[in-house]
Amino acid sequence: MVLGIDIGGTNTEFAVVDSTKGIVHIEKIKTKSHTSFLNYIESFTEIVKELAKKFNISSVGIGAPNFDSGSNTFCPVNFNWPDVIPFNLEQHLEHEVSIPISIVNDANAIALAENRYGIGRKVNSFIVITLGTGLGTGIVINNHLFDGSYGYAGEFGHTKLENIDRVCNCGGIGCLETVVSANGIRRTIAEKLNLDSPNEAPDVRSIFEKAKNEDVLYKETLEYTFKVLGKKLSDIMHILTPEAVVFCGNISKSLEIYMPIIKKECERNLLNNLRGKTNYIVSDLIHKKVNLLGPASLAFNKN
Ligand SMILES: [Zn+2]
Repeated sequence: MVLGIDIGGTNTEFAVVDSTKGIVHIEKIKTKSHTSFLNYIESFTEIVKELAKKFNISSVGIGAPNFDSGSNTFCPVNFNWPDVIPFNLEQHLEHEVSIPISIVNDANAIALAENRYGIGRKVNSFIVITLGTGLGTGIVINNHLFDGSYGYAGEFGHTKLENIDRVCNCGGIGCLETVVSANGIRRTIAEKLNLDSPNEAPDVRSIFEKAKNEDVLYKETLEYTFKVLGKKLSDIMHILTPEAVVFCGNISKSLEIYMPIIKKECERNLLNNLRGKTNYIVSDLIHKKVNLLGPASLAFNKN
């Protein structure tokens, strides 16, 4: 059995996963209820130690934001604790529980889950686009995750769009995720409705709902969003020629209806000999615990 851990801004979840039975046990702590990074690491370590005692854990995989595989440190600057520093979680935990620990960035963890439990069972090379608050990307080539020289490959969300001057969370201007993400969609709506802030726009679920009910402003916004995505996607296609593009994340649950737009816009921008060769699909795993299956897949890979 392995332990898969997902470090999220709201919750941190711990899953004991069996290679045949799947997830057999889940624990959860509220990430943000901890007053400091140190305090969080203490709770985190306690749970790992308890689970390691209770179950026969052979390996631990962790999906974490802001993990730098070059320096092997985890530094969750977005969690707003005063004492956040680059921290070697792997070394710390291995010292505490004497079990091999592996860590991966969260978007790449989802790609690992797809490789073991999803599309990876059918094809060898694919990309995973995670549409949520932002836009994350994982790249799998010949059934191996490609994460670049220091773990950050696939930052598709921060490639730039022409004629867009929106400032991104990363500080860049015109990043793809300033348009194609839950936040990006709300920004477009806020601009169209002359709202003071995207926070005044409806949440993304309501936006999809309104579009479904033929509200033209919302429908046009989503069509525009997914046209932008389709065109940018063709850049990745030209470089990687994957067999499939898989969409995950909260927004993907409502994506089926817009898939023809993404596909048409992408294919239209491809070289002739690349056309008609890629599958565009919504992940089969979106209703499963993909956030935990990813880190667990990492742990199984290290077994
Ligand atoms: Zn950016």
